[in-house]
Amino acid sequence: MRQNQLSVHSENILPIIKKWLYSERDIFLRELVSNATDALTKVRLLEPEKGSFVIELLLDKEAKTLSIIDSGIGMTEEEVEKYIAQIAFSGAEEFAAKYQKGAEPIIGHFGLGFYSSYMVAKKVEIDTLSYLPGSTPVFWSCDGGASYTIGAGTRKERGTRITLHLNEESLDYLEEHKLRSLLDRYCKFMPFPISFQGKSIENREPLWLKSPAECTEKEYLECYRSLFPLEPDPLFWVHLNIDYPFHLKGILFFPKEKRRFDGEEGAIKLFCNKVFVSDNCKEILPDYLMVLRGAIDSSDLPLNVSRSYLQVDQSVKQLSTHIVKKVTDRLVQLLKTERESYIGNWPEIELFVKLGILQDPKFYERAKELLLWKSSDEIWTTVEDYLERAKEKKVFYSSREEKTPLFQVYKEKKLEILFAASGIDIALIQFLESKLSVPFQRIDGVCHEGLLDATREKTLLDESGRTQAAKIADFIRASLDQKELEIEAKSLASDTLPAILVVSEQERRLRDYLALTQGKEAQKNVQPKRSFIVNTNHTLVQAIERLSTKDPDLAGSLAKSLYHLSSMSQRETQGVEDFEEGIAQQTAILEKLVSRLCS
Ligand code: ADP
Repeated sequence: MRQNQLSVHSENILPIIKKWLYSERDIFLRELVSNATDALTKVRLLEPEKGSFVIELLLDKEAKTLSIIDSGIGMTEEEVEKYIAQIAFSGAEEFAAKYQKGAEPIIGHFGLGFYSSYMVAKKVEIDTLSYLPGSTPVFWSCDGGASYTIGAGTRKERGTRITLHLNEESLDYLEEHKLRSLLDRYCKFMPFPISFQGKSIENREPLWLKSPAECTEKEYLECYRSLFPLEPDPLFWVHLNIDYPFHLKGILFFPKEKRRFDGEEGAIKLFCNKVFVSDNCKEILPDYLMVLRGAIDSSDLPLNVSRSYLQVDQSVKQLSTHIVKKVTDRLVQLLKTERESYIGNWPEIELFVKLGILQDPKFYERAKELLLWKSSDEIWTTVEDYLERAKEKKVFYSSREEKTPLFQVYKEKKLEILFAASGIDIALIQFLESKLSVPFQRIDGVCHEGLLDATREKTLLDESGRTQAAKIADFIRASLDQKELEIEAKSLASDTLPAILVVSEQERRLRDYLALTQGKEAQKNVQPKRSFIVNTNHTLVQAIERLSTKDPDLAGSLAKSLYHLSSMSQRETQGVEDFEEGIAQQTAILEKLVSRLCS
């Protein structure tokens, strides 16, 4: 046995690997099993008929070791020196350049995977015998410092045994169930049989590697269930099968239940030649694709997912553009051929389409026909089609689907309304306005001329030259005594809507946006301009007018009540106090009326 120095300033490298290269300790297993898989792939290429091709995992609780054994290509002493001792000198790249001609791809590219074992081990030993005739076994051992031991090994058969002497913090890897669940996570689809403690682990061919034409619906559902065992079945899926300009296979599923979008991890699993790499694809895929679930398998992605690297990598960008295109095409096809089903699934599709439009300007051009809105005419429509039908170049929308009295007035006057009830719609509307150069107007954002009934206007002047409508407005203004609130009395084309609280569109949007992004407190800084428009054709308003001279106290209370009812009905009460004041006001007026009735 001889003592030797690890090259490439390894004193500095090992702590870096330990701390930074991998965010999760667990992945050492993936790295070592991948190395074993590579070793088997290589030897199968060179000697396809000879020997077995298996990976074995063994725990020794007493010795506190975990061994990963493969019957792969093995290493000569020279190779151990070169590939293991020279950290970051990847044997995989060299091998690929030399031998590989489009056969099974090799997983490792970086030459650091092996050292991830030092995240969990205080000492690592290698016992290896090369496939080359006449080779002798080699033993290598290193405790993670800058020096290692190399000498004669004991292995009798082709292949490599890696023995990890687990460190104190990692003794949990001695638990069988822990390792079993890790194997299930990382190695479910490995190309070679794996055994653990003498028993073989079930592994199968991943469905995404099959040609889409050969896959059945049942298989897709089974695949989904095996990837996401706790989830309800998906709605539909997109099978990706890309060969050019890079290799990518995968299946993306639209999940069933409507989830809050939080860039959740684990939704899209990333594989590299059947080996699970990560369930964090945030760096690779745009946010809006993360709404989907599934698996992507690409040999063009390096196993060592270094974030900064992935972000700038050109092929990664192309990859996501391609995936987006495929998913969009699938949705367009669904919309064209199965419109009913598309609409039925809209609550699940919506977030994808809307986030996509907001996050990727190019996506909009491709996806605009996918963006549907439910309309007050009981149809689903695009904004473009809505504008074709509309009398003026303006889009009326409501952020609530309830058929409120205000909604009814629009309906009676044949003004079509689009429902925009999801949180993301504020941002989307803003985007569409600038894209289409058309204003969007919430139905309570203005008292639209179309809602007025000119024939019943109260234009008669009294002795002081005021119209009847102005008199009502003056009385209500005095009763409410709110300086910031503009008050008008108008002849609305409705006998059932007593008043509208009109809230300035732009300021309200800003307020709602702040509330959505920064919480309710933040919205207090923005108070949208509001006007209170009472309907002179409504009996309650007419009663207030009549009572204003006979019983000004009761009329004043009724005016306040009218205001509170409107702001409550339009969900425009300003904070809890305002709401509570409204309730108190209703109670007070009921008391007054009752006492009058009983007196
Ligand atoms: P990578 O796999 O990214 O190339 P590693 O640090 O994991 O980097 O491994 C370095 C090299 O060591 C590999 O490329 C391979 O040549 C060799 N090696 C590692 N593990 C094995 C093994 N089980 N059998 C044969 N060779 C191996």
